[in-house]
Amino acid sequence: MQLATIGMGSNLGDRETTLREAILWLGAGCGNRLRSCSSLYETEPFGKTDQGWFLNCVIQIETSLDLLGFFNLLQEGEARFGRIRRERWGPRTLDLDLLFFGDAVYSDSELTVPHPGVANRRFVLEPLCEVAPDFVHPSLGETARTLLGQLAESSRVVCLGSPPVVQP
Ligand code: ATP
Ligand code: CA
Ligand code: CA
Repeated sequence: MQLATIGMGSNLGDRETTLREAILWLGAGCGNRLRSCSSLYETEPFGKTDQGWFLNCVIQIETSLDLLGFFNLLQEGEARFGRIRRERWGPRTLDLDLLFFGDAVYSDSELTVPHPGVANRRFVLEPLCEVAPDFVHPSLGETARTLLGQLAESSRVVCLGSPPVVQP
């Protein structure tokens, strides 16, 4: 089994329902089990600021899939929950970023793991620290807590205080 860490985001439609349904769907997949789920965070759009605020969370899933199989599942999830892919960093009903897959370090034309944005995004590091503060970034060699402490990025991130699904 591997432990996959996923950064989820939505800023179109019923954001909370989309995130909740996607979490339940990912955790119910054959060979998958939801291990942990952060609170929801309302966050200022990153990169492209002329769009609605996002809801973000971070979850961890134990999976028997391999790295590429799990990434395919995330892409299927985006399609299933209605994502319309228009532009990078633009509005979307569901964004599923694979932050970590165990301690894998991998890159090809479609997938880079760890996700390159982890260390400089507050909307990733704050929920990540809630579920896995001691997780060591496999290529930077620092814990999530240390990376958050070093972060200069100051976009607004508001913890809404309740996980979107009942904790497993
Ligand atoms: P960012 O990746 O900076 O958060 P984004 O989520 O808006 O931006 P997308 O349009 O969702 O970008 O994805 C662009 C491409 O990134 C996808 O087609 C996918 O192949 C690729 N990608 C590379 N590494 C990853 C990863 N770890 N998780 C998800 N997608 C990835
Ligand atoms: Ca993203
Ligand atoms: Ca993405």
